[in-house]
Amino acid sequence: MLIQLFRTRNVDERILEDVALSLHSIFMAEVEIQNYYIELPDNIFDSERMQYLADAVIYHVYKYKSLAAVAIVLVGFDAYIKGLNFVFGLAIPHLKTAAVFLPRLAAVTQAALFPERIRKEVVHELGHILGLKHCSRINCVMSFSNSVTDIDRKTVKFCHKCGKILESKGYRISREFLLL
Ligand SMILES: [Zn+2]
Ligand SMILES: [Zn+2]
Repeated sequence: MLIQLFRTRNVDERILEDVALSLHSIFMAEVEIQNYYIELPDNIFDSERMQYLADAVIYHVYKYKSLAAVAIVLVGFDAYIKGLNFVFGLAIPHLKTAAVFLPRLAAVTQAALFPERIRKEVVHELGHILGLKHCSRINCVMSFSNSVTDIDRKTVKFCHKCGKILESKGYRISREFLLL
């Protein structure tokens, strides 16, 4: 699997390096950090809500993706989708593209938790791209998070059931990222 990591201009490159290392060790994936910024178009920003429309962000980033790759963009702005006040992340599996929105992940925390939350959300969205649905096991990375408390409660690992589904689709997950 080839994963391309993108960012908007207000995201520090070290965050991408950290995510790249995790994705490499979890999925044994080849990870490419793109060395340019993605500029998001003004017409997908809602200036009353001060948020981007998350699905439109993904459609925009999709245009930069190589055909065979999976794309993940880290966005330094808040975002929403129709019917939800905000999203931490969103994946559109048939586009093999996902976005993780960072501002809310930085909320009320010690500095160390911020990168950990980003890793969990990136792995979660990638799980959706690879065909996983939400999982009812609260420590599984595929459990749904409605708050940073939920994110902090889960791990960056897949439960046995989610791990099996990935395996059946031909993806290999390194053992230390499978919950016992
Ligand atoms: Zn989800
Ligand atoms: Zn699970």
